[in-house]
Amino acid sequence: MTTTPGARTVRAPRGTARTAKGWAQEAALRMLHNNLDPEVAEHPDRLVVYGGSGRAARDWASFEAITRELRALADDETLLVQSGRPVGVLRTHEWAPRVLIANANLVGDWATWPEFRRLEALGLTMYGQMTAGSWIYIGTQGILQGTYETFGAVAAKRFGGTLAGTITLTAGLGGMGGAQPLAVTMNEGVAIVVECDPSRIERRIAHRYLDTRAGGLDEALALAERARDERRPLSIGVLGNAADVLPELLRRGAPVDIVTDQTSAHDPLAYLPSGVDFADWADYAAARPEECARRARESMAAHVAAMVGFADAGAEVFDYGNSIRGEARAAGYDRAFDFPGFVPAYIRPLFCEGKGPFRWAALSGDPADIARTDRAVLELFPDNTHLARWIGMARERVAFQGLPARICWLGQGERAAAGLRFNELVASGEVSAPLAIGRDHLDTGSVASPYRETEAMRDGSDAIADWPLLNALVTASSGASWVSVHHGGGVGMGRSLHAGQVSVADGTPLAAAKLERVLTNDPATGVIRHADAGYAEAEEVAHRHGIRLPMRDG
Ligand code: NAD
Repeated sequence: MTTTPGARTVRAPRGTARTAKGWAQEAALRMLHNNLDPEVAEHPDRLVVYGGSGRAARDWASFEAITRELRALADDETLLVQSGRPVGVLRTHEWAPRVLIANANLVGDWATWPEFRRLEALGLTMYGQMTAGSWIYIGTQGILQGTYETFGAVAAKRFGGTLAGTITLTAGLGGMGGAQPLAVTMNEGVAIVVECDPSRIERRIAHRYLDTRAGGLDEALALAERARDERRPLSIGVLGNAADVLPELLRRGAPVDIVTDQTSAHDPLAYLPSGVDFADWADYAAARPEECARRARESMAAHVAAMVGFADAGAEVFDYGNSIRGEARAAGYDRAFDFPGFVPAYIRPLFCEGKGPFRWAALSGDPADIARTDRAVLELFPDNTHLARWIGMARERVAFQGLPARICWLGQGERAAAGLRFNELVASGEVSAPLAIGRDHLDTGSVASPYRETEAMRDGSDAIADWPLLNALVTASSGASWVSVHHGGGVGMGRSLHAGQVSVADGTPLAAAKLERVLTNDPATGVIRHADAGYAEAEEVAHRHGIRLPMRDG
């Protein structure tokens, strides 16, 4: 994999003066740059932000053109971005999104990795993952809170509300997976994390997401068992291939309580096959992609078989949204789905309340602005102790990457309240410049992904993809600043469709009106989707918030 022509180092502009004609355009410009900040992106020279090959723009020429167009864009114009490439500017109106984005979408029968790669090689498309191509990735913090919530739910389900005295075994220290060690230690547990790329281990230690590295498996187990016995939180990185290390730890009868995985299994070319040296991997994958993908799938089958072995031995085992069970089954391993995905196991009850990964970034670049918004969230929801614990720990332990940002899961009603309060803070000058308010595509109403967010829906509607399309249409109709519709994020080609929105709080009454509508209607599509699927909790939330359900309310 060579450096993309035209590559250069970029970083978001900071401060209160803008170079675009409005703050929505300026926010899109800053967030696009921020996604490619070397502090934020995994491989910025190739425009890869996170998640295997999730890109912010198709190529550097497209990046330059998007930047130029955003600067010129009027408040009644909309820029169209087709898989990371700006293709048109249309006259719309001031409530319309300033940017509409569609990434990696393929017609059903063509929605496969080989066809996608063929089109990508022709320069016709780009993989946008979820927040890479929709310009609202905020570094590993973005996933940290979701991971913290998930491990908290594991603790509540099996271990009396804390992971103290337990050992979690997982793999992958990339953009998302790098959150795992800190999420485990925030829940007071011990984590052993296997990673084949030494630079990822160093990076997570540098960002204080990972405590230490072990020289080998013996040392990792000794460190883990001592910390567990002392009920002391500790995270340990181990260099190795998970397809070899997990079966070896199972064979040794390692005392593991929880097992999951966040290698880039959704893309077989981003999973290191057993028997291939890390140093040779990129050349091998480029030279023989089909053979490399086949060997990766076989390795995933061995990896998943070890996870099933740990489940058989009594551990809490779950798929963490990377499609590793699907790939293992494709390689012929028939017990791959013997453990659940994390959404049906832990997250769906939150989705029923319209809860999801609400996030915001301070366009000023000033950490004091995030400190002010943190206080505002605590003031808005004084009774939510779980939220207060998260904000407290995040302030203490999360190192900002790129523009200062914060994430917390908020539900129906809460998001609109927070957005309006943030807009007031911008209007009064308590926050020094506008805020970009968005979310992950992994949200209550914005995704169809049968191996992850919509696995095992109560009515069997896992693969119905009308919902994310309706969600995108709703946010675009409600005043969002930019809206995106993607394919293949998280779990890979042919397996998901999902949508995103970002809305800008610039302190104006118009922004307040838009924020109130977008941040009410966006989670409402999730409440509606879950009520429609037969979740009584969601129906109750709909009634409480006055969301009409024609086929249920009559
Ligand atoms: P990434 O590409 O940044 O990192 C993956 C890491 O796995 C890399 O550091 C790579 O070196 C390592 N790796 C690959 N093969 C390995 C092997 N055989 N043994 C050990 N390490 C190996 O990806 P990411 O952004 O961290 O995402 C990880 C996965 O999680 C992806 O499949 C992604 O789609 C999925 N994901 C999950 C969620 C969620 O909420 N659960 C959200 C987004 C993405």
